[in-house]
Amino acid sequence: MKEFDYIIIGGGCAGLSLAYELEIHNKLINKTLAIIEPRLKYKKDKIWSFWKVTPHNFNDCIKKNWQNFSINIPNQTKHLECYNYPYQSVDSGLFYEKIINTLRKNNNINFYKDIKEINSENSFIFNSVPSLKNNNNNLWQHFSGVEIETKNNFFDDKIINLMDFDCEQRDSVHFFYTLPFAKNKALVETTWISKMNDKSQKDYDNQIKDYIENRLNLKNYTISYKEEGAIPLFYPSNNRDKNKMNIGTVGGMTRLSTGYTFLNIQKHSKYIRENIENIATTKNFAIDKKYHFLDKIFLRVLEKYPEKMPHIFFKMFNGSSNTVIKFLSNKSNFLEDLSIILKMPKWVFIKALLK
Ligand SMILES: Cc1cc2nc3c(=O)[nH]c(=O)nc-3n(C[C@H](O)[C@H](O)[C@H](O)COP(=O)(O)OP(=O)(O)OC[C@H]3O[C@@H](n4cnc5c(N)ncnc54)[C@H](O)[C@@H]3O)c2cc1C
Repeated sequence: MKEFDYIIIGGGCAGLSLAYELEIHNKLINKTLAIIEPRLKYKKDKIWSFWKVTPHNFNDCIKKNWQNFSINIPNQTKHLECYNYPYQSVDSGLFYEKIINTLRKNNNINFYKDIKEINSENSFIFNSVPSLKNNNNNLWQHFSGVEIETKNNFFDDKIINLMDFDCEQRDSVHFFYTLPFAKNKALVETTWISKMNDKSQKDYDNQIKDYIENRLNLKNYTISYKEEGAIPLFYPSNNRDKNKMNIGTVGGMTRLSTGYTFLNIQKHSKYIRENIENIATTKNFAIDKKYHFLDKIFLRVLEKYPEKMPHIFFKMFNGSSNTVIKFLSNKSNFLEDLSIILKMPKWVFIKALLK
């Protein structure tokens, strides 16, 4: 059976981002790579959005950039700017196409459906396949979204609605998210932060229909794309073997308080590429520990006091939006962290800290 220097298990966001990063920096000229991916065909299955706080390789896969966003709680709306860190959406269809077309040109890179087709004994393995053991107490961000099109112009495509909490909460944390890609096209998503065993929140289609028709007051539209998913808001046990490293969601690249993962995956890919010659002895890359600590307390508060969360998120965005964006994107300094912490309701957080 064929042997390779490197194996990437899972050709999704993290696996392909890493392969692309290695390829464009000429790390696969004298090295071989096998990518193990069971899917038969790549098609758009996600829209990855984030504030662009660091450069990445996929500017040509951006659907749209925004410099304004809003947050709603009942009877209050906050409008904010993000000129320094535009909010961007990457189209996964364009991302997959760009990467696959590039990788196919290098004969040192081969795709397989199953790892059993090759000899993996002497390879260094990057694994992005989840083996998450779901414990019923874990929190998830679970959601469903539709891209809709209208005949006439309807949306203000200059501003996204990042979180609209003016909706049913059902003793949990729930908001809608609207990304207007054009005046007649938008992604509308219903998002919950809760334990996955709560089936009562899974009537996503009804929630979205009701929101579009009764809250946005839009009756005539067609659905052109749908996505559904769940992001774990807990860290998988990330045991490091000598010849194996986890990447992507299973590599701990999700920011627990937000679910943002895409840019962390890009940073991780860059780190691996910079250390690829000594990868077996390179230490694991991780999101700064201070965010692990702060997010853990934040999620404890969220779990205990879900009814307080719309106001907590709303208050977080008081003051400079740059500071909050940097905090939520792992870029904040000590003073910026402090300014966010001071906006939080003290007793609730102290009680969560002492739990
Ligand atoms: C619908 C959706 C929308 C999201 N939106 C955002 C967003 O807007 N912003 C953001 O920052 N994050 C977002 N995320 C979170 C995160 O960025 C994505 O989940 C991202 O795809 C994670 O990358 P990954 O490589 O870890 O996992 P994936 O992209 O899921 O890749 C895993 C790959 O492993 C393959 N695989 C499965 N089983 C096997 C097996 N046995 N052997 C080999 N391969 C296997 C799968 O087919 C898949 O291609 C979203 C997640 C989802 C689900």
